[in-house]
Amino acid sequence: MDNFLLSVIIPVYNEQDNVKPLLDRLLPVIKKYQYEIIFVDDGSTDKTAAFIKKTGQKNLQIKLLSFYRNFGHQMALSAGYETARGDAVVTIDADLQDPPEIIVKMVEKWQMGAKIVYAKRNERQGEDFFKIGTATLFYKLINFLSDTPIPNEVGDFRLVDKKVVEYLNNLKEKPSFLRGLVAWSGFPTDYVYFRRDRRLTGKTHYGFFKMLNFALDGIMSFSTKPLRLASYFGFICASLGFLGIIYEVLKKIFYPESFVTGWIGIFVAVMFLGGIQLITIGIIGEYIGKIYKEVQNRPRYLIREKINL
Ligand code: UDP
Ligand code: MG
Repeated sequence: MDNFLLSVIIPVYNEQDNVKPLLDRLLPVIKKYQYEIIFVDDGSTDKTAAFIKKTGQKNLQIKLLSFYRNFGHQMALSAGYETARGDAVVTIDADLQDPPEIIVKMVEKWQMGAKIVYAKRNERQGEDFFKIGTATLFYKLINFLSDTPIPNEVGDFRLVDKKVVEYLNNLKEKPSFLRGLVAWSGFPTDYVYFRRDRRLTGKTHYGFFKMLNFALDGIMSFSTKPLRLASYFGFICASLGFLGIIYEVLKKIFYPESFVTGWIGIFVAVMFLGGIQLITIGIIGEYIGKIYKEVQNRPRYLIREKINL
């Protein structure tokens, strides 16, 4: 178990000032293994790719896969998995929020038999209350809705065995929420813990709406319960309506002299029902949109250039 190849996949999008500090910390950690580092340049418009190319001339184990444009973090990870040759494959962010030093512990757990080793954050530095709050809420919600338990406080910093990579590469669907699919597979899992530092330089690429969309993608691809929810809404409304009818009929029989004014009641009912109908149509639309995307079957990314690959 000592003779193995370790692949490290690093998605980069405009990280020109982070690549060098990252390599300075990563290389001493992994040089005791046979390794390859695969940078996936997700359409950077700065000097990120140029710097990696230059480094790759001196060290052939540093490889680069470039996209034509920005296809997104998850696509960059997928491309990395499709290219990696390693027996164990680590994915790590380029901004040093994920400490490379704990890769050693991940490899140890893998050698002890785990096929998936997650790096779990037990503390976050430099992320505001809002980001932490929304993240907690998201994991609560997705675990309530989905039948696959998705581990809390676990991002895309993980080590997976070759077998897991094979499974991911052979999926028929287009993964938009890789961490869910990794959890879904059920391979033996272990954890190592770390403190998530603040970003070295630059700003996060995940603003509020990108986070929200990512969260919705995750929920939609791991649960059909929202569709069920729509049916429940309908059932509740119909029952209330039915009770209303009985009430009116009884009133007509026993108290014929009392007549109806209440236009506000009607107004509220119309708004309420209208709202619920719109939500329901929206939920159905989301799923149809997902089906549409799968049917179109467009490539997930387009590769402009490969270096050392
Ligand atoms: N990233 C990418 N494509 C994107 C956005 C981000 O490849 O469209 C990379 C980015 O360079 C970094 C990692 O994905 O290495 C995580 O991104 P970021 O740090 O912005 O996300 P956060 O840590 O705030 O969730
Ligand atoms: Mg980051």
